[in-house]
Amino acid sequence: MATILNDCFAEHHKLLPAEEALARLRAGVSPVVGCEEVSLANAKGRILAQNLVSPNNVPPFNNAAVDGYAFNSQDLSANIETTLAISAYIAAGGETPAPLQSGSAARIFTGAPLPAGADTVIMQEDVTADEQSVSIPQHTKTGINWRPAGEDMSTGETVLLAGHRLRPQDIGCAAAMGYAKLSVFKRLKVAVFSSGNEIYEPGQTPPEGGIFDVNRYMLMTQVRQTGAEVSDLGILPDTLDATVAALDLAAKNHDLILSSGGVSTGDKDHIAHAINQLGQINFWRLAIKPGRPLAFGHIANTALIGFPGNPVATGVCFMRFGFPLLCALSGQIWPEPIKLTLPAAFSLSKKPGRTEWLRANLQVDTNGRSQVDKHPRQGSGILTSLVGADGLIELCESSTRIEIGDAVSFLPFSQFNVA
Ligand code: AMP
Ligand code: MG
Repeated sequence: MATILNDCFAEHHKLLPAEEALARLRAGVSPVVGCEEVSLANAKGRILAQNLVSPNNVPPFNNAAVDGYAFNSQDLSANIETTLAISAYIAAGGETPAPLQSGSAARIFTGAPLPAGADTVIMQEDVTADEQSVSIPQHTKTGINWRPAGEDMSTGETVLLAGHRLRPQDIGCAAAMGYAKLSVFKRLKVAVFSSGNEIYEPGQTPPEGGIFDVNRYMLMTQVRQTGAEVSDLGILPDTLDATVAALDLAAKNHDLILSSGGVSTGDKDHIAHAINQLGQINFWRLAIKPGRPLAFGHIANTALIGFPGNPVATGVCFMRFGFPLLCALSGQIWPEPIKLTLPAAFSLSKKPGRTEWLRANLQVDTNGRSQVDKHPRQGSGILTSLVGADGLIELCESSTRIEIGDAVSFLPFSQFNVA
């Protein structure tokens, strides 16, 4: 039987603060995946491996922002309507027009190149005109209704940085600069398994004492949401030999291994021992709730997180520790959590010395101000608290008491792709 309190675990007796654990994760992480080229159509959610520098101005030329008439404001008479002859007809998609003849106007359409010599476009709705001439009212505002070349992006400007996860608007931006293909990081390969003799596959009929596997399905989905490739490695029995064999094999062809359960100090908890046997543990026991046992280590170059077995702990610990690690291993810039400061709609006493995450909901009070309330059921076995919440409240180690109206940190689920 394994004894957990041997020398190699001595430094893990003390509970590590969450911030220290996050700092360690962050300090040790760098992209572990190579690069590949993808077309714009396949780039959503991928992580840029190159800086995107604009090879040209966007827009590439001065152009009309409305359908109307281009003219030079110097040609307007003061305090009286001015009628100008129409000397050109400029539609979008045409070649660079000739410079505007002095004292005349050009009929022009949205997106068409502005002729040299024009400094204003007036909307067609604001004039009286026929095919030969246009009358421009007095007090017309000058210099307006056209877009200068490069007003959005200028030649040589770095618009998107390597490490950025591509959203639809970023892909649009790459298209505006003329990129057809982008260099992105290859997808991270992540192995996921559960552990426990009581854990059974949904769809089976578990025997007495058996429960369905929640964590593997939740984790695999959380991982896929980041764009990584998932290998489903099933459910491990509670034996050290099977655990060592499974981790050893998974480490050979994955960048990251995620497991849940079996990570505590009980006789049936083998994850920490197995990591220690095959590689190194960096940290193992944290001053957090839900959680506490959460093992992070390496087997050769493969990182590994052993999440606690309780589903809420697995879900929350994935968000706070697994998600940023996975992003950074995938080539993304380490995502610092978005924490909104909001008044609490509840009061609560808390043990000092550990960081706690409550499942929570955004609310609007009777005066229309945003506030945040904790979900009424906070047990780490209450999976429905994750289902019924729209974010986490993070209570720092030192806090002992929250009163109604106190400012608390709220972390929306949307940032972890689990909204
Ligand atoms: P453990 O850390 O292995 O002692 O597990 C803690 C609690 O989480 C136990 O009640 C387990 O039955 C439960 N648990 C562990 N793994 C899973 C899982 N994959 N799905 C649902 N519950 C689990
Ligand atoms: Mg177990």
